[in-house]
Amino acid sequence: MSDGAAAIREKLKELAGAHAAGKAFLSVTLSTSRLDDWRLFAPAFLNSEFNRVTKELGISKEDKRLLQADLAHVLDVIKYDVDPRTQGLAVFVDGTAGYEERIELPFRLMNRVVIEPSPHVRPLAHALSLLEPFVVARVSRDESSLFLVDEWGVAKEDDLTGPWLRSSDRETGELSIKEYYAAARQDTLVDLHFKEVGTALAKLLEESGAGRVVLCAQHDIASAFRRTIPAAVAGRIVAEIPFDAAATPGQMVASARQAVQEARHEEMTALATRIKEGLGRGGRGVSGFDDVLGALGRHQVQTLLVDRNYRVPGWRCLECSWVGLSAAERCPACGGATTPVSDAVGELVRLAIVQNGRVEVGEDIPVLDELGGVAGVLRYS
Ligand SMILES: [Zn+2]
Repeated sequence: MSDGAAAIREKLKELAGAHAAGKAFLSVTLSTSRLDDWRLFAPAFLNSEFNRVTKELGISKEDKRLLQADLAHVLDVIKYDVDPRTQGLAVFVDGTAGYEERIELPFRLMNRVVIEPSPHVRPLAHALSLLEPFVVARVSRDESSLFLVDEWGVAKEDDLTGPWLRSSDRETGELSIKEYYAAARQDTLVDLHFKEVGTALAKLLEESGAGRVVLCAQHDIASAFRRTIPAAVAGRIVAEIPFDAAATPGQMVASARQAVQEARHEEMTALATRIKEGLGRGGRGVSGFDDVLGALGRHQVQTLLVDRNYRVPGWRCLECSWVGLSAAERCPACGGATTPVSDAVGELVRLAIVQNGRVEVGEDIPVLDELGGVAGVLRYS
């Protein structure tokens, strides 16, 4: 039942656009790591949170009964087997519409119960930013491997042997004539091997949709390899880690994952800086809650960049896409009825997804703080 990035992206889009047929969607996120003894702990937590939230929202007895059936469904889901590797579980239910979606993730989620007209999809948008598959290219002069790594581990391994090794007689160990000539031509053959690896790498990136590559090689080999492969493929290499013959594949993947995360952080910092430079008339940058909301109202946001920890309660309109940070009985945009939301920034994230915008998540980015915790690149200025 584990979910890959592509499956989650699809579910996320569908969930973001879903509206409750009944009173509201019940969105539940939970950490399901063993340490928490979560199976014992979750039902009590869910019941008490459910009671607190329904009371806070002043939900009628009748509506509460319908939602209670949704909660019973969530309790059922957690009773049955969840993939043992799963550390975070998200469940979205609208029983009135017969709608139910569950997503299992390889990392923990905040324990939370949300009852709102739309599913609370922000945790999934955050998850996606961490789930993007990447490739580790372990390159040496004559024996290289490409590892496609997804959120659950190594999904695919291609081993590539170079022409020099192929031409020598490994069984007898004798220096064959063929090998003698091969040795003389070694540099050319290494070059050929790099080209082969480059071609296989381009194909793997294309097939898997992975965007980033970590190069695992001795430094001089890494430089030669980068020079040999097409610039478009070399441009996907976001980090280099040293080749360590003693490291297990697990250790190599762990340090590659770390390197990808650091590269991502740098990319997000660069994105925030680009947005900052594009602020103002004629530019393609927008920043701060109100201006980003305005741009979303015009379907103008191409990329939304949001601080992982910027979460504030607010109000939303039930008729249009208006969201505000302060209470409003009637929507200032259309006069429709409003309802409180636990995460107004999450509403911006949801709107961006509905509009096919890209959502990027950053953390500890001073420039993004300056921009008010939420910012965007516009489709046009
Ligand atoms: Zn409205």
